[in-house]
Amino acid sequence: MSTSTLIINCGSSSIKYALISDQLDTRISGLAENLGSEHARIRGMTFGEQPLDLSLPYADHEQALEVLLQRLSQHQPTAIGHRVVHGGTLTKAELLTPEIIQSIRQATPLAPLHNPAHLIGIEATMRLFPELPQVAVFDTAFHQTMPAHAYRYALPKFLFSEHNVRRYGFHGTSHAYVSERASQLAGAIKHGGWLTAHLGNGSSTCAVWNGKSVDTSMGLTPLEGIVMGTRSGDVDPSLHQFLANNLGWSLERIDKMLNSESGLLGLSNLSNDMRTLVEASEQGHADATLAIEVFAYRLAKSLAAISCGLPQIHGLVFTGGIGENSAYVREKTMAYLPHFGFSLDLEQNKSLPRGTEGRIDQGKGPQIWVIPTDEEGRIAQETQHVIRHL
Ligand code: AMP
Repeated sequence: MSTSTLIINCGSSSIKYALISDQLDTRISGLAENLGSEHARIRGMTFGEQPLDLSLPYADHEQALEVLLQRLSQHQPTAIGHRVVHGGTLTKAELLTPEIIQSIRQATPLAPLHNPAHLIGIEATMRLFPELPQVAVFDTAFHQTMPAHAYRYALPKFLFSEHNVRRYGFHGTSHAYVSERASQLAGAIKHGGWLTAHLGNGSSTCAVWNGKSVDTSMGLTPLEGIVMGTRSGDVDPSLHQFLANNLGWSLERIDKMLNSESGLLGLSNLSNDMRTLVEASEQGHADATLAIEVFAYRLAKSLAAISCGLPQIHGLVFTGGIGENSAYVREKTMAYLPHFGFSLDLEQNKSLPRGTEGRIDQGKGPQIWVIPTDEEGRIAQETQHVIRHL
């Protein structure tokens, strides 16, 4: 591999990594998991598609990164790009300086599960590689172009002006990548209006006009919006009071239920995995069938709602594990969206090989695309862009 960028995505006990050549054509990727426990290990692929499986009992983030980077150093990473979920009001990828690290720390109350883990990774790579330029690429940054009427909540003004309570949106690198790719495939780069549906364990929708996010379904945190694997998406805010008064639940209990026990898992009482639910539904599992129906209906409703941000709809893009792989969910969703002239080609939809790029409409009305997302590739590009403009 020629020179390359190392992409790091740190979770509380895991590190996803990818080493991507500057031409984006060669990649090595993997996962360090169970960090801090006796089962800590690194799994992945090395150059030449050789599997890598290293047991590192009780390794922490820094130790795992040290091992990883020793193994990857022969491929000469020239920069490190960190995925950071919440960048507050930062509008673009930034070179990591003490001030930017402080901004990430200040955004921690808005992403308490994600930002502290990113900071552990950032501090470890800075200690290990003080000579390499490092860049933070924020999930929130793409949505900073939303107009105030899309990002403000109808709440007392001081909550916004003094406490930054507003809608931020997430999955920005994915929505940015697939909307740009769609406009490229349609022959009008960064032009026109696109609806994008990133459907994975976390799911969100986005409306993109001329390459800029104008609305999205997630809000202050990644809980708002459509149905997800274990997250509820939108609920009546008075639910908190109802559960506190009637069941005596604490705020922590309610938060855990909404984030970890709801969504597809809560509705089906079976699984958060769409594959399992589709199979169960085929075998007559009524709650699995309902979970899929609620998922598709609320997704369609969200797409219809945020289409208000677009003067015109050129097309819709499905991406993420479910969007890329489930023809069934795509068909169910489009059945709820007959209003905008969309016409799904049922055969094309079914026959598109899983995880491949393809157009699935009948050639009239707005286009419908399936585009595999490439968050790592996008982070590598943004990292290189920041470094070129230093
Ligand atoms: P992601 O978070 O983008 O990796 O997506 C993960 C989700 O994709 C899993 O939870 C599965 O529900 C879903 N998924 C992957 N493959 C399929 C498939 N063939 N059919 C339905 N859902 C799938």
